[in-house]
Amino acid sequence: MQRDEQIFELIQAEKERQLHGIELIASENFVSDQVMEAAGSVLTNKYAEGYPGKRYYGGCEVVDEVEQIAIDRAKALFGAAYVNVQPHSGSQANTAVYHACLKPGDKILGFDLSHGGHLTHGSPVNFSGKLYNPVFYGVEQETGLLNYDKIQEIATEEQPKLIIAGASAFSRDIDFKRFRVIADSVGAILMADISHPAGLIAKGILNDPLPHCHIVTTTTHKTLRGPRGGIIMMGQDFDNPFGITLKNGNLRKMSSLLDSAVFPGNQGGPLEHIIAAKAIAFGEALTDDFLNYQLQVKQNAAVMAEALVSKGYNIISGGTDNHCMLIDLRNKNLSGKDAENALVKADITVNKNMVPFDDKSPFVTSGIRLGVSAVTTRGLKEDDMLAIVELIDEVIVNYEDESVLEAIKDKVNTMMKDNPLFVA
Ligand code: PLP
Repeated sequence: MQRDEQIFELIQAEKERQLHGIELIASENFVSDQVMEAAGSVLTNKYAEGYPGKRYYGGCEVVDEVEQIAIDRAKALFGAAYVNVQPHSGSQANTAVYHACLKPGDKILGFDLSHGGHLTHGSPVNFSGKLYNPVFYGVEQETGLLNYDKIQEIATEEQPKLIIAGASAFSRDIDFKRFRVIADSVGAILMADISHPAGLIAKGILNDPLPHCHIVTTTTHKTLRGPRGGIIMMGQDFDNPFGITLKNGNLRKMSSLLDSAVFPGNQGGPLEHIIAAKAIAFGEALTDDFLNYQLQVKQNAAVMAEALVSKGYNIISGGTDNHCMLIDLRNKNLSGKDAENALVKADITVNKNMVPFDDKSPFVTSGIRLGVSAVTTRGLKEDDMLAIVELIDEVIVNYEDESVLEAIKDKVNTMMKDNPLFVA
């Protein structure tokens, strides 16, 4: 068969883009060669509906071992009693949890999308807002922080069945213990979605949701630095509170409901090549190298936030505890869209983002979100963060000047030229 040069040339072009640019999209990262190799392996050929030891297809002996290793490593990494490694993405992990815990029309309480939440936490354009009845908490206008007393008030008033703690653009640590008190006061299930800070949480740098939340979901490809995908975890298994029984009349465990919600509830065959890549990423995350990486991520983000603040940038909540930050650009007189476009012309990739109490549409926005997980993987340190802030500021100040943007792009390409995508 003829090699598909059209596609391979595009893949090469994308590789060049990644190599030459500064990647500041908070949800992205660069995987190791072995994670990449597993993701492109022959395991993609295998159907394996079901779970290790209980499959609906023959020939699953090898992938059974792979999947079990992925489960065991994730359990060790997060201190979880239960892990399902099959969700194809973070959204699918959340879908499965809702499927296991809710009926259509049930009320859910999530972090408002425009304040930093995720689409799957009840946005009206997402299944979670169409199928369920969403209500929201957000951040305080003056501080950009969560006010747990207000979240308690909303929960008491609304009586949600499920509460979601977690966000896509929130730079502060979350008090999961307090969330559990709120959930218990109204008899709600508490789910943490740690898709963004999972790598920092795994290494004990941020609050651990596993002891407090009934269920925890995460993507595997952000700070966790694995292949694109999702997982579902529990710190401990428990009898489902919905009265769903086995044939013998015993209550089904929550783990059994979650497994059924993933397969056959929402997915067919698991992506065993991706599960193999997840297993490798979890193995990498168990090392001290990964702890050092996460400590550097936190340090880089803190340095970047401080440098931006000193240049007059308005960071929501004033700084960051994790890998990311959300900048309100309204005092700089350009939109998030203008900033994103200008930065891309200089080979600096960020995403425009709504800021709390934004007056612009999601297509325009007043802000940008920055994260340092990817550049830290490329080996960049504190001094590089200061240099990047200078470059960002030059772009923002000159966002309509094509020749200045071209000159900044040269500087960016020179800076990144000798950095491989992945530095162990
Ligand atoms: N949950 C949160 C908090 C996220 O930030 C994201 C992705 O950005 C997701 C879920 C969904 O992940 P995916 O894009 O893999 O569906």
